[in-house]
Amino acid sequence: MTPIPFTRGVPPEQVLPVTELVKLTTEVLSERPVELFQYPRIGANLGDDALRAALAGRLGTTPERVFVGNGSLQVLDLLAAALLSGENKSVVVEEPTYDRARQIFERHGGQVTGVPLRSTGFAVDALADVVARVRPAFVYTIPDFQNPSGVCAGVEQRQALVDLAERHGFAIVEDTPYRALRYHGVELPSIADLAPERVITVGSLSKVLSPGLRVGYAVGTPELVAGIAVRAEGTYLTPTPLTQAVAARALEYGVVDSAIADAVAFLKPRHDSAVAAARAAFGDALLAEPGGGYFLSVLAESRLTEAELVAGAKAAGVTFAPGSAFFPGGRLPDGKLFLRLPFQALPESDFARGARALADVLVGR
Ligand code: PMP
Repeated sequence: MTPIPFTRGVPPEQVLPVTELVKLTTEVLSERPVELFQYPRIGANLGDDALRAALAGRLGTTPERVFVGNGSLQVLDLLAAALLSGENKSVVVEEPTYDRARQIFERHGGQVTGVPLRSTGFAVDALADVVARVRPAFVYTIPDFQNPSGVCAGVEQRQALVDLAERHGFAIVEDTPYRALRYHGVELPSIADLAPERVITVGSLSKVLSPGLRVGYAVGTPELVAGIAVRAEGTYLTPTPLTQAVAARALEYGVVDSAIADAVAFLKPRHDSAVAAARAAFGDALLAEPGGGYFLSVLAESRLTEAELVAGAKAAGVTFAPGSAFFPGGRLPDGKLFLRLPFQALPESDFARGARALADVLVGR
């Protein structure tokens, strides 16, 4: 039997608006074939003007504060290079955090310290202690339906982070790819809403339009944005003209809004059923009931090592990303194991079967 994959946060193909994307691609290509197949004009390293304007309108900011890169991962890499270019190499992240971001920060010489996540975000006391001790250049947070935990930070935690940033003078990088995928409750203020001058917002069209377009962005001060654009030009000149033109058109024509509505309608029942199945399988070890995004997660005491859990899961027909990768230095908290459970790409019955199998391995049944 093929294993049940709890491995990646990839959009299910049912929510990719492929028909519309093919139509828009044909449309922009027939209008501007030479421009889109030629080297972009000098100075286009900040990204396509129409796309930056459309993103600015959507995010309630101005185009000169918007930088577009080939996927938000590349934007994070450029940002890390800029923010860690000085003496201060200290970075604070949520624990667990997005593994690729952690690896990027470490690759740029960052000394990464984690602050444990609770079901409503950073443990505020621990965050206050850590930032006073390590004096970070920046704090990296994924406040909405975090990858890998699913946690959505409460308003109190968001405000506490901003207050600490003001007191200690560090920057905040908020990464927001799942923000629009909310299945329950009301939208909370973004961290940038609370402190626009202190916060760099990173975002992506990967989960709300198409990851294959590779369109990600950052919103920050014009100086910061210009600085990362210089680094961008030095490595790849400009982001890809064709996919940016398609993305700009998709925003303009409302294709992103309809893709979000379709994704929310498709994923809400999967989320609800996954929460019920994971609660039944893991009880209180389930870290959060997210109400949005792609992920559930489990942090559990276990007598097993991670390698034993991976091997046991494989024998039981389940594959998953080893949880240690989501912790600074690749180290799990003592005596605990962490499991990320992406629910977005699995039929409900597969998720439930996989969660039960993993829970059995975890407790040695
Ligand atoms: N940040 C987070 C938190 C993510 O989960 C992802 C995708 N898994 C990314 C950034 C990267 O997304 P992309 O490069 O496709 O924009």
